[in-house]
Amino acid sequence: MLIFTKIGELQEFLVQKKTGKISVGFVPTMGALHPGHISLVEASKKVCDLTVCSIFVNPTQFNDKSDLDRYPKTPQTDLEMLKSAHCDVVFMPSSEEMYPEKDERKFDFGYLDKILEGDHRPGHFNGVAQVVSRLFDAVRPDKAFFGSKDYQQVMVIRALVKLLNYEIEIVTCPTLRESDGLAMSSRNALLNPKEREVSKIIPKLMQEARELKKKGKEIPEIKEHIVSELNKRGNYELDYFTICDAETLKEINSFSEAKKHVALIACYVGKIRLIDNVLLN
Ligand code: AMP
Repeated sequence: MLIFTKIGELQEFLVQKKTGKISVGFVPTMGALHPGHISLVEASKKVCDLTVCSIFVNPTQFNDKSDLDRYPKTPQTDLEMLKSAHCDVVFMPSSEEMYPEKDERKFDFGYLDKILEGDHRPGHFNGVAQVVSRLFDAVRPDKAFFGSKDYQQVMVIRALVKLLNYEIEIVTCPTLRESDGLAMSSRNALLNPKEREVSKIIPKLMQEARELKKKGKEIPEIKEHIVSELNKRGNYELDYFTICDAETLKEINSFSEAKKHVALIACYVGKIRLIDNVLLN
C-alpha cells in the first residue's frame, strides 16, 4: 500500500499507472474509519484495477468549529484497516496541501444544497463540493464510491459531476450498520455508553416509518409518530425528520404509487449529531 501526502507525487504515480489503461476507483473519507468505509474500498476493488482512498478532515465543510475540533482522528488504525483491505493507495494531504490559498468558490446546486443538511449546516455542501472537486482533480478517478448513509451528499456530488463536466461514474453503496441497527459513523465513537445505548432508537424509528407506510399510513401521521416517540424520551434533539421523493429529494406530503420515497432524519444525541435515512419502498 502506497501512501502519498502531496498532490504532485500522487498524480505522477497515477499518470504512470494510467498509461497502462487501468481503471482507478476512488473512496474519499475523513478518516476514523469503520467497516462502512471499508465496504466502499471493497466495492471499488471489485470493479477497478486500482483503488485510492483519501483521508482528509475537510475544514471548509464544518459550519461548527467545535464539531471540527472534536472530529475523531485515528490515522494509525485507519492505515492498518486500509492495508488489511488491500487498498492500493492512500492519499493523506495536509490542509495546506489541499488549500494553499483560501477556496473562494461558491457552488449553487439550486434547492438541493439549501434543504435538510444544507439548511441545518449552512455552507456544508459548498465545503463538500470544494474538497471533492479538488480531490477529483488530484486523483482523476474513473469511478468514485460514496455511501447512501449521506443520501443528500451523494445527490450533491452527482450535481457537482454534472456542473463541472467530470467523466466520473458515481457509485452509491449501501449503509453498513451496527448489530442494533445504528448506522456506522465516525461520530459514533464520540457517544458515551448511555448515549450509544439510546441512539439505537434512530434506526428503530426509521424501520417503524417503513412499516407505517406499508400499513397505509400517510406522511403527516408517520411524522407525528416519529416526533412524539422521540419527544417521549430525553437526550434527543431532532433537527429534522422528513419524507422526500427519493429521486429529487423534494419534500412531499402524500405518497404517490409511481414514486420512490425516502425518510431522512438528523438528530442530536447529547452533543453528537447523527443522521440516517431509509427507503420506504
Ligand atoms: P466520512 O468519512 O464520514 O466523510 O464518509 C466517507 C464516505 O463513507 C462517505 O461516502 C460516506 O457516505 C461513507 N460512509 C459513512 N458511513 C457509512 C456507512 N455506515 N456505510 C457505508 N458508507 C458509509
